[in-house]
Amino acid sequence: MTDSNEKDALRQMLAGFGVELDDEKLERLGAIRAQGGSVSEQMQAVFEVLGLPKLDPSLFDSLAEMSADAETGEELADSVFIGPCPSCGFEKTRNCDEEPGIEDLTVGLCPRCGWLWCSECGQKLAREQPSCDNPECFLNGPDTDELDEPAAD
Ligand SMILES: [Zn+2]
Ligand SMILES: [Zn+2]
Repeated sequence: MTDSNEKDALRQMLAGFGVELDDEKLERLGAIRAQGGSVSEQMQAVFEVLGLPKLDPSLFDSLAEMSADAETGEELADSVFIGPCPSCGFEKTRNCDEEPGIEDLTVGLCPRCGWLWCSECGQKLAREQPSCDNPECFLNGPDTDELDEPAAD
């Protein structure tokens, strides 16, 4: 049976969305896959099982495409949040959370061409100076300070 492989793939993909699968949900998801249909139809059924909001059907098509590319849920999450490389268009980009000397989730890295950029505003960054200094960028906006502001005395 290839069934368990398919469940593993689904489990990994959903882990990228922060969704834990238990055995009962896996049973129901297995039944959905057994029924067949297009990948995006199956994903819509999956979202129903998991109690997630209904999304635009075109979004399921994109998710299905991305999940076919991404090898793990983590990679899927990265490619969703970071987006394609602004320089070469490569889609399997990642964040720099574990990149020595950078360690910043908001910095995108293209493994193909080595481009570094701010994932919020798209500004090109350099390894020597990997923090965004674009005054227009969300990361540098006054709103982000307000979030940290202590309650007034
Ligand atoms: Zn690139
Ligand atoms: Zn920025």
